[in-house]
Amino acid sequence: MNRTKSEQIYQEACEHIVGGVNSPSRGYKAVGGGAPTVMERAEGAYFWDVDGNKYIDYLGAYGPIITGHAHPHIAAAITKAATTGVLYGTPTPHEVKFAKMLKEAIPSMDKVRFVNSGTEAVMTTIRVARAYTNRTKVMKFAGCYHGHSDLVLVAAGSGPATLGTPDSAGVPASIAQEVITIPFNDPEAYKQAMDQWGDQLACILVEPIVGNFGIVEPNEGFIQLVHDLAKEKGALIIYDEVITAFRFHYGAAQTMLGTTPDLTAFGKIIGGGLPIGAYGGRKEIMDTVAPLGPAYQAGTMAGNPASMLSGIACLEVLQQAGIYEEMDRLGELLEKGILQSAEKHGITLTINRLGGALTLFFTDVKVENYEQAEQTDGEIFGKFFKLMLERGINLAPSKYEAWFLTIAHKEDDVNHTLEAVDESFAELARL
Ligand code: PMP
Repeated sequence: MNRTKSEQIYQEACEHIVGGVNSPSRGYKAVGGGAPTVMERAEGAYFWDVDGNKYIDYLGAYGPIITGHAHPHIAAAITKAATTGVLYGTPTPHEVKFAKMLKEAIPSMDKVRFVNSGTEAVMTTIRVARAYTNRTKVMKFAGCYHGHSDLVLVAAGSGPATLGTPDSAGVPASIAQEVITIPFNDPEAYKQAMDQWGDQLACILVEPIVGNFGIVEPNEGFIQLVHDLAKEKGALIIYDEVITAFRFHYGAAQTMLGTTPDLTAFGKIIGGGLPIGAYGGRKEIMDTVAPLGPAYQAGTMAGNPASMLSGIACLEVLQQAGIYEEMDRLGELLEKGILQSAEKHGITLTINRLGGALTLFFTDVKVENYEQAEQTDGEIFGKFFKLMLERGINLAPSKYEAWFLTIAHKEDDVNHTLEAVDESFAELARL
């Protein structure tokens, strides 16, 4: 596969853009290095790079592109925005329509606010929880990613009883001291941390179904325990549904789990591919936000007509009957086919899958928490990633990410992918 132009453009990018990329996860460092593929065009389930190579895309732009690229209904909505004004700085009817759609799909949303990214949405839910509870400490789970604001770039201390340490240069130790990070799916660690810190917690922040160290579902009873002790201690529950909302059904993961968080953060899918974030929840909590209450949050681009129209169009597409069932069916075909190939070639592999989202872990251990995901074989993943890329399959360049099916993927694409997997595993077995 000729990748000359990708390499040239990446080299030029490195001169002008930090690290050559606008988000670190786009680089190929985690898969053994090299120039990331520079894409030029995308349609449906496919990408074409600047050298003219075609790929089946399972990156889905890290989640948002569930309808497939350049979906005609969304393209029409964005075109309408382009010709009627993309930014007003005034209220619009689109915001109200979209807010009502979210509320109908997600019953815990008494009120919502639109922002511009998942980072902003989560950052603001924490502020609102702090304002409402008059407490400052935040609990979260190791390996869950919640954007790049200070409070969520904090690593775990040495155990559930210890406070955090900065996970990025530039995050003050004083801020890390406000955060407790504990393992996901570990009831004992949670109980111990709640004994120690529960009374001081403004909130417990969680991806209710994890998407950031692979797809990891909560074990039976875990999320309920999180809710029960939070209630006992007066801490709010914030769900980060930036990945999970509208990923597995028309609604949020909370409906699937049968739980009701106090606040929820959204992003990705709800923008139909344009920049967006949103947060919402119980009326009396949301009413602490300015201009009604004392917790400040604002945004020049917040609720802009382009993102609103694109988001509405995306949700309209997702209301079609049968689409989630079809993504689940294709996801199951992928899962079974990949596992069969792995067995045939003696490759150690487990797959975590929910619907049309799956993660391949090169390990024989069932992955239920971040530590287990960390211990999976990143070197083999890196080789596999490159073998697949050469065969025209675009995956996320990290062992922690999911493959995302879209409604544009067809059974033929899955079959073609399984052939590429089989060839790649055969090569891996020879190495
Ligand atoms: N929360 C979760 C669960 C995410 O996966 C992400 C992004 N990967 C974010 C928050 C941050 O969203 P954004 O990149 O839009 O700021």
